[in-house]
Amino acid sequence: MPAYPVVKCMADFLIKGGHVIDPANGIDRSADVLVKHGSIAGVGKFKAGTEKTIDARGCIVCPGLVDMHVHLREPGQEWKEDIESGSRAAVAGGVTTMCCMPNTQPCLDHAGVIRQVIERANQIGLCNVHPVGAVTRNLDGKELTEMRELAGDGAVAFSDDGMPVWHGGVMRKALEYASSFGYLVIQHAEDLQLTEGGCVNEGWVSTQLGVAGIPSEGEDAMISRDIMLTQLADARYHVAHISTRGSVALVRQARGQGLKVSAEAAPHHFALTEDEVLGFNADAKMNPPLRTEEDRQAVIEGLRDGTIEVIATDHAPHHEDDKRCGLSCAAFGIVGLETMLPVSLGLVKQSVLSMPELIAKMACNPARLLNLDAGTLSEGAAADICIFDPEATWRLDRNKLQSRSKNTPWHGREMTGKVTHTVKGGRVVFEHGNIHA
Ligand SMILES: [Zn+2]
Repeated sequence: MPAYPVVKCMADFLIKGGHVIDPANGIDRSADVLVKHGSIAGVGKFKAGTEKTIDARGCIVCPGLVDMHVHLREPGQEWKEDIESGSRAAVAGGVTTMCCMPNTQPCLDHAGVIRQVIERANQIGLCNVHPVGAVTRNLDGKELTEMRELAGDGAVAFSDDGMPVWHGGVMRKALEYASSFGYLVIQHAEDLQLTEGGCVNEGWVSTQLGVAGIPSEGEDAMISRDIMLTQLADARYHVAHISTRGSVALVRQARGQGLKVSAEAAPHHFALTEDEVLGFNADAKMNPPLRTEEDRQAVIEGLRDGTIEVIATDHAPHHEDDKRCGLSCAAFGIVGLETMLPVSLGLVKQSVLSMPELIAKMACNPARLLNLDAGTLSEGAAADICIFDPEATWRLDRNKLQSRSKNTPWHGREMTGKVTHTVKGGRVVFEHGNIHA
């Protein structure tokens, strides 16, 4: 894996008086965090010296969040987002490490473009960016990429996200090959024949709106097949953006049998239901779609009992023109980097998860699955830190998002929980609403 060079100068500093939560080390107490030379020098009680002090009283101090599912649109669709605007959105949301999906133009199916993304992210220097390599060339599901080579150039996992790896034989080979060097295959689980032409969840809402539906069985069927292949290949398999009651049950059962199956949920799937698209709201259209209350509760239960280890945004920026063209034609996806934390804090408020459990799903768990040096405040680790006020309330104004795109269903809604500081590699990159580029 390529090293990330330190390109900006940084000062030592002390984060004082916060409540430190570092699930990787079992820390959940009032403490200070000392940062020296870009690394964590210690968590404990420190006397303020000559270094700068950040007052974290009333705030949670935790590892910088790790979002393993982001679409950065560069190269190819920079009017929607680019690595710089995406990095700004990330750090505004407390995210210091993100994995970008390969469905760019050109897609991330060869080493050159993977290196280019990493180099560009390093130049910007706001957020660690790790590309996810394509499973198949052109994401067309037919011919495997040079997976080993992509890994050598910095890909941290493989996916055709946006599209499923639909061909069973190709999926089997991908699982076998990726697992031969310890890599994860991340599946966008969708049986394209079952979901073809669909726009929103199939059911009462699709009938009300008179648009084609996406049945939950389209997701369940693909995951069911993949679990069998995972067992056959003795591989590691990860379900992206899990959204149905059936698929949560399938993943729970597979994990119960000892298979190396993991899953992530996106905040919109545990916070919202299909009712959001009533009124033809294209900013609530995504794939997989928002589902029923029963599905939402199943995802919540999966998060609670540990079936779902990761929360990831599926941050999918789209320009107004791709959204304001009628619900059936509108692009799938919403931006999520800047709302992941406040929306997910709802799980703590509702006593679904403890604060350390929540932070584990947004920091150390994804880092562990992808074998990344991230998601911890261990002494000597890179000082990637998120500081947030869990009680601060604010109203989301999409025009104030750092992301280049504004497609969020939470516009105008009150949020609880606000990131005050984001530190990346010992440098304060976000502070009270301002980016320090
Ligand atoms: Zn997807």
